Amino acid sequence: MRLVRNGKGIVALRSFRPGTTVLRIRGKIVDADTVWRYWQQGNTRRGENCFRFDADRYLNPEGDISDYANHACDPNSGIVKDARGLKLVAIRLIAAGEEVTHDYSTLLGADDVWTMRCRCGFPDCRGIVGNLLTLPPALLRRYRRLGIVPSFMLSI
Ligand SMILES: [Zn+2]
Repeated sequence: MRLVRNGKGIVALRSFRPGTTVLRIRGKIVDADTVWRYWQQGNTRRGENCFRFDADRYLNPEGDISDYANHACDPNSGIVKDARGLKLVAIRLIAAGEEVTHDYSTLLGADDVWTMRCRCGFPDCRGIVGNLLTLPPALLRRYRRLGIVPSFMLSI
């Protein structure tokens, strides 16, 4: 078993039960213009790794472990927003030694044109990761039931 599917990632050192917080996503809150500047300056990794925080703002996780959170089309965690900010929460049992992944599409709004070719290797891999509206309806319903589509995402 490969621990990390693509480059660097986050590997659980212990198991996490479904519904438990794996980690808090820490970083600097920046506006959309700042994220756009990362792209213009050629720092695509920086632009790609920012987490949507609300309709107008992003969270730049530079220097935080969450900077290495990878996507999977069959993820074992998801993003939850609470009063303290964003966190990764297990949506099924995560075993020690397993890579912690989430579905990037849950934080890509209808106004987000960014896409990514996916090589996650899961049988249901979508091939291209796009915004929330590109998710198969049944999968979006499942993610909403699990509480891993922050409510602000549904009004963007
Ligand atoms: Zn995939």
